[in-house]
Amino acid sequence: MIAENIQAIRAQMAAIAVAAGRNPAEIELLAVSKTKPVADIEAAIAAGQLDFGENYPQELREKQPLLPPSVRWHFIGHLQTNKVKYIAAYVHLIHSVDSTRLLEEIQRQAAKHARVIDCLLQIDISGEETKSGMTEMEAATLLEHAATYPNIRLRGLMGMAALTDDEALIQVQFRSLKQLFDTFTEKNMDFNILSMGMSSDMQLAINEGSTMVRVGSAIFGERNYAR
Ligand SMILES: *Cc1c(COP(=O)(O)O)cnc(C)c1O
Repeated sequence: MIAENIQAIRAQMAAIAVAAGRNPAEIELLAVSKTKPVADIEAAIAAGQLDFGENYPQELREKQPLLPPSVRWHFIGHLQTNKVKYIAAYVHLIHSVDSTRLLEEIQRQAAKHARVIDCLLQIDISGEETKSGMTEMEAATLLEHAATYPNIRLRGLMGMAALTDDEALIQVQFRSLKQLFDTFTEKNMDFNILSMGMSSDMQLAINEGSTMVRVGSAIFGERNYAR
């Protein structure tokens, strides 16, 4: 099932991109494997998927050694500063930088491992209390000080739309993130990743300019947090 789902999602992404007048090659699929067993990830790898997203540092820390080194691990959940050390040696892209404090700790850990870690700034576009992210002002200030973090490369922005059936609202939120992304891209050479869209709002996100969709349940099925 997982392999078929991945083929289907890839086909859908390409169709949405073409309908939106975009080049399908501009949009990457990140398979969100949080709470899912290693066997599911192996099934996805067999279908040619190498980018996986995880939300919990301990879970990622357990899975990473069990899977091939060719896997590119993305961290997409809220990251506590004291957990950065669990992922710093191998993480491919951190999507969820939501504070200066976190960026400072990633810098420290990246330097320790003699790495440059790619990061996205998570912007709060949903207006919901429960979602994290920084304001546009905070992000702009951080970008001005990017040189303070020699072991971090800021590659773009990530955002989550509100949890709602109101497609017009989701569209407005994605559009505002894309506008901010374009503004920053003019000033920052490394900026070329806009991580937006999940299983339920992938189409809206691609229409609005996403370059990376984070798809979990549509590939792996519903998650069971109770386990
Ligand atoms: C879980 C999660 C996803 C995937 O959500 P689905 O609805 O299962 O596609 C995407 N992004 C983030 C930040 C997540 O936490």
